Amino acid sequence: MKEITGKLIVISAPSGTGKTTVVKKLLQQSTNLEASVSFTTRKKRENEKEGLDYFFVSEKTFTNMIQNDDFLEHATVFGNFYGTEKKSVSENLKEGVNVILEIDWQGALQIKSSMPSCVMIFLIPPSKEVLLARLKNRGTDSDQEIAYRFNQAVLDLEQSNKFDHVLVNDQLEKVVTEIGLCIEGKANKINQSKKVAESLKSFFETN
Ligand code: 5GP
Repeated sequence: MKEITGKLIVISAPSGTGKTTVVKKLLQQSTNLEASVSFTTRKKRENEKEGLDYFFVSEKTFTNMIQNDDFLEHATVFGNFYGTEKKSVSENLKEGVNVILEIDWQGALQIKSSMPSCVMIFLIPPSKEVLLARLKNRGTDSDQEIAYRFNQAVLDLEQSNKFDHVLVNDQLEKVVTEIGLCIEGKANKINQSKKVAESLKSFFETN
């Protein structure tokens, strides 16, 4: 069997942290990096494309995939199923291609236990206000959904200390450079910089 030579990079962040933009930028700048396209039972948003943003499937298909052991990880997020298919990830890794997964913390922890050599990164928003503004500006979710996602974000932030690297997404270029260093193994595994601590404080002090 061919040896795995690519690196698996896992990026998690509360909804609205801007991780999709960060991952897009990383992909533009890297020649040897592929994003895994997840499967989900969530409804497709207007601006999304099948096979590019997600593979949108029924609950029945998703459940069959679980039974067939097709997933590297899967989790329920905001009441919908999300999962990373094993096949394409392992094919890329065997070809020496680095693979990035943009998944929630539950899935990230599953990956960590099955593939401990993965690079685990948690992105956090600079502050409560910035997160709320980002959730609203996206313009794709109802007020109720925004409030739900915001409350969930605060809960998700409590998981950040389980990750190797915690970075504040305050400036796109900077955070992309920092992630690059984490991928290359040039960043210390620090998950409590002063900036991170300040951002987390802004969420937990008033909640
Ligand atoms: P959204 O519905 O906004 O696209 O994503 C909701 C959440 O599901 C985000 O935190 C996103 O990272 C996460 N997610 C997307 N794909 C996967 C996946 O394959 N597995 C897991 N565990 N979470 C995922």
